[in-house]
Amino acid sequence: MFGKSYGCGACGMRFKYRDELVKHAQDIHDKKTTYLCITCDESYENESSFMLHMAREHRV
Ligand SMILES: [Zn+2]
Ligand SMILES: [Zn+2]
Repeated sequence: MFGKSYGCGACGMRFKYRDELVKHAQDIHDKKTTYLCITCDESYENESSFMLHMAREHRV
């Protein structure tokens, strides 16, 4: 494997392109909004998980 990928915060599947992840989240998990960390490209299905990630990993 090479390069970076985008991880689905709900099921752990990984995608090469952000668009694929967003489409996956909408199709599979029926998410209208996916919280995406622009620093490390991890996605989260809800705001609380996203905020926790930001606090823990990036101290924001
Ligand atoms: Zn998923
Ligand atoms: Zn992050």
